Amino acid sequence: MGKIMIELYNTLTRLTEVFVPLDPNHVTMYVCGPTVYDRPHLGNARSVVVYDILYRLLSHLYPKVTYVRNITDVDDKINQAAKQNQESIRDLTSRIETLFHQDMAELNNHLPTIEPHATDHIQQMVTMIQSLIDNNHAYAAHGHVYFSVKSFSSYGQLSGRSVDELIAGSRVEVSEFKKDAADFVLWKPSASDEPGWDSPWGRGRPGWHIECSVMSTEYLGINFDIHGGGADLQFPHHENEIAQSCCAYPESHFAHYWIHNGFLMVGGEKMSKSLGNFYTVHDILGQGIPGEVIRMVLLSTHYRKPMDWNEKAVSDAQKGLDRFYHVLQQTNTVDCGDEDIAEEVLEALKADLNVPVVIACMHRFAKEGEGKKLLAAGRMIGLLQKKPADWFITQQSSISDQEKNEIDHLVQQRKEAKQTKNWPEADRIRNILTAKKIEVQDHPDGTSSWRKMV
Ligand code: AMP
Ligand code: ZN
Repeated sequence: MGKIMIELYNTLTRLTEVFVPLDPNHVTMYVCGPTVYDRPHLGNARSVVVYDILYRLLSHLYPKVTYVRNITDVDDKINQAAKQNQESIRDLTSRIETLFHQDMAELNNHLPTIEPHATDHIQQMVTMIQSLIDNNHAYAAHGHVYFSVKSFSSYGQLSGRSVDELIAGSRVEVSEFKKDAADFVLWKPSASDEPGWDSPWGRGRPGWHIECSVMSTEYLGINFDIHGGGADLQFPHHENEIAQSCCAYPESHFAHYWIHNGFLMVGGEKMSKSLGNFYTVHDILGQGIPGEVIRMVLLSTHYRKPMDWNEKAVSDAQKGLDRFYHVLQQTNTVDCGDEDIAEEVLEALKADLNVPVVIACMHRFAKEGEGKKLLAAGRMIGLLQKKPADWFITQQSSISDQEKNEIDHLVQQRKEAKQTKNWPEADRIRNILTAKKIEVQDHPDGTSSWRKMV
């Protein structure tokens, strides 16, 4: 095998490190997936797109990659939403899971290799909790089981803070049964109308964190390569996963590389369900913005930086993709192979997933009319998946044939006016088009394309 040398920023060491897999023939990655109580918003989508890029790069470079992304289908938010919708919990979780898959497919995300459900692993959770109690890392009290944070000396390593600092800076669940304010729940009792499973501590349900320790071990083993998730999961979720796994398996160091994506922001605040400042992917698709445009916006900022969702970002992404597809059309590029992936594109991806540099390369390939290089770069990051003709048709499908003909005619007249240097006439026609919300793009080869603004 040639030199691979991916560099990734590892939250655990706070360093950009060369990625060395435990087994170069089989790379393993676990990413925290959705809690299925509502359709994914754009922030959730950013996280999925980021790990999809990493999965694509790893799959390109290594013979085998196992990518596990869980489905959290037991959670108090699910119980509340089911009650509110007057829907059964199982109906809600399976409905939302299907919608999640649909929305993520619209953004060209691959499915992970394995997508385990928390509720299919309750028995393994009970077993892990019992072994934590047996090792004196957890204690049972009144139907609850808590993890004893003081029993794990490395607690706080991922966040780089002391336990006291962590607690002071976050909302930690208060409970009269806890021995220490930092302790977190592994198991809790369920009321008769809540989902519950029999356990040595009575009928109950797991706390959230234990599922990821169990499912990562089940499918990837006690040591694996990469663990990912949004920056909000660093504490407490990932800190707690490490504590549970390292205490249940003292010979384990759990995940070697911890990757966290930055937040998608709205007006300076994290987009989140609880703040109510979110747009679902479905809402945005419903506005006529294609999935590929959403993906391009999400990719236009380096994955670790926070980024804003705004109209300008959407319009820039739309223009960029229009241009790329136009070049593919003009150069008659329908296919490409691995040999067309430019070295600089791979190098950018290997440098901690520098996708903005890949997009800059794509603009240069477009300018130079290098269709195959453009398409190959696009495919590496899950863009340019359509045929150019289909791209331009879907863009205009909401317009009647008659209107299309009229617009084509106006665009042609404007072109002639420009050719004869009749600038007032060209401006007059552009104003008519602008009033119709039609945007014309003039390309370096002398042709023009147009699209209706949404
Ligand atoms: P949830 O369904 O809330 O557990 O979130 C699923 C994934 O989306 C987690 O990895 C979160 O960290 C991530 N996520 C949630 N909100 C945002 C956001 N505004 N920006 C980026 N990632 C987010
Ligand atoms: Zn998790």
